[in-house]
Amino acid sequence: MTRKSKIITAVSVLALVFGAVTIYYKNRMVYVPNVIVGAGLSGVTMAERIANDKKEKVLIIEKRDHIGGNVYDYKDSNGITVQKYGIHAFHANSERVWTYLSRFTAWHNYRHKALAETSKGNVNFPVNLNTINQLFDKEFAEEFTAKLLAKYGMGQKISISDLQNSEDEVLQRGAYIMYEELFKNYTIKQWGMRVDEVDPSVIARVPIYLTYEDAYFTDKYQGIPKFGYTAMVQKMLDNPLIEIRLSTKWEDVRGKIKYDKLFFSGSIDTFFDYKFGKLPYRSLHFDITQLPQEYYQEMAQVNHANHPSMTRSIEHKYLLDEKTDHTTVSFEYPEAFDGTNERYYPINKPENADLYAKYQQEADKLKNVYFFGRLGDYKYYNMDQAVERALDLYDKVFKK
Ligand SMILES: Cc1cc2nc3c(=O)[nH]c(=O)nc-3n(C[C@H](O)[C@H](O)[C@H](O)COP(=O)(O)OP(=O)(O)OC[C@H]3O[C@@H](n4cnc5c(N)ncnc54)[C@H](O)[C@@H]3O)c2cc1C
Repeated sequence: MTRKSKIITAVSVLALVFGAVTIYYKNRMVYVPNVIVGAGLSGVTMAERIANDKKEKVLIIEKRDHIGGNVYDYKDSNGITVQKYGIHAFHANSERVWTYLSRFTAWHNYRHKALAETSKGNVNFPVNLNTINQLFDKEFAEEFTAKLLAKYGMGQKISISDLQNSEDEVLQRGAYIMYEELFKNYTIKQWGMRVDEVDPSVIARVPIYLTYEDAYFTDKYQGIPKFGYTAMVQKMLDNPLIEIRLSTKWEDVRGKIKYDKLFFSGSIDTFFDYKFGKLPYRSLHFDITQLPQEYYQEMAQVNHANHPSMTRSIEHKYLLDEKTDHTTVSFEYPEAFDGTNERYYPINKPENADLYAKYQQEADKLKNVYFFGRLGDYKYYNMDQAVERALDLYDKVFKK
């Protein structure tokens, strides 16, 4: 054998051994007591509790290349903290959730407010008594406000459907104009269906506040993590008992991991390989744009009900009150979930609830597999509700 062929043989053998070792490590069965699918707020809360309270090992499987799920944020080249998946303003009435999260972050005292673009210019949103003055001529606004206050009382929260169903002509007319200017096309775009197909609870959820205060939320606790949500979530995961595998789908690794308990915050239909069909979701496309101007709009959120395809523009620098001479704005375009984009909103329809119930029945038959979170429960949770659900599930599983 010549020297050259000896070298070639040695290199080939080494390559074979290296390949075999790689295949062995890739396919070897891993054991972890607790596996969590999804590094969103739900999964992260569960991981934090198991590692810090129960002091057991946790492996998190996350298909995206970052932690935080939909609350993920990052600093862009303008020095602005951008909430990649849309505006997230924290609001809660639960002292338990507020105290829990406050262990991992200080809060920037942000009180969310929004405007809505109308044919009369930008008006306060959600609708309050200022909106009525901005949207209607003086005489009608006074009559409308007087009737609202006489019927419901100052400080009350009602819904547009309360007014639509009223027998009073002034209340009905006011409701009609507000519905056309602010709700109708927004709802059609957001849900991608005719307005009469939208579940009435979705429209009833949009409040009208009989007050002159512009706050979007009335919850006791409000704010935004002072250094962003990603920093908060990083702190929650700061325990050597927690291992995170990013850019990894559960479907690709499930046969290779042994566990005692599995907590699944991905979409429940994927876990069962869509055996009863796919759960429908609404998705969004975010067009994130950097602009060479100090400010783009008057506040963080402006709704555009009557724009042909966009629903909201979000100017991120308002959220943490970041001062720069440039700005970053994301424009939101609702779209169907088609399997290539993200699942954002479960769609509230009886047939979807029935489909989810079938998966839930399958889930109930499994031992030591728990579904939770927005996608696991197929339920619209705000952040506080997602955290509370994870804390409750932890208590139920580990403290019984
Ligand atoms: C546009 C928008 C704006 C919102 N604004 C607010 C707000 O202002 N205030 C508020 O309180 N709430 C808001 N929310 C709700 C908030 O985002 C949720 O409450 C919260 O993110 C729920 O966390 P989660 O962990 O349940 O879900 P997610 O954040 O969706 O996390 C689930 C994670 O699981 C991963 N995953 C899914 N399937 C798999 C799989 N098969 N394998 C591996 N990983 C998988 C996903 O990639 C994701 O990271 C908003 C939601 C949206 C969509």
